[in-house]
Amino acid sequence: MKCTTCHENLMSEENFTKFACPQCLETTTVRCTKCRRKTNLYTCTKCDFEGP
Ligand SMILES: [Zn+2]
Ligand SMILES: [Zn+2]
Repeated sequence: MKCTTCHENLMSEENFTKFACPQCLETTTVRCTKCRRKTNLYTCTKCDFEGP
């Protein structure tokens, strides 16, 4: 599995969060703790929703 924001491989399941796109609920965003701390924006590949 890869981080949606930085595309880094995620080794440990404790180091990332996973959630569905709040707008279309069709894509799943995976984000590592590093990106969460930096509050990088992610963009949904399906509906172009941008969120923190
Ligand atoms: Zn990341
Ligand atoms: Zn979406």
